[in-house]
Amino acid sequence: MKSGPLLFTTPTTIMASPETLYCYHCGRHHPREEMRQIETKGGKKWRCIKSIEATKKSSVLRDAFGKTVTADNRSGNQTRIKARLEAERLTVR
Ligand SMILES: [Zn+2]
Repeated sequence: MKSGPLLFTTPTTIMASPETLYCYHCGRHHPREEMRQIETKGGKKWRCIKSIEATKKSSVLRDAFGKTVTADNRSGNQTRIKARLEAERLTVR
């Protein structure tokens, strides 16, 4: 059975340096494990997972809402157009 120095080094060294990174979205520091580096127009920035997820959720909701509204408008217009066409057809005959 081998006993290497690797067993003792890995977890403790990571735990011994609690890093925090500046989150440009919240304007404060978060633990490194909660952060993700993302590409922005201004370059690479660190942002926390929570804010990324929150933005994703809100944009998904916004998209879903927008789609239902446009779909309603479209179907409403189509029925109106159909009704007008039928009315014109009736008057022509
Ligand atoms: Zn944040």
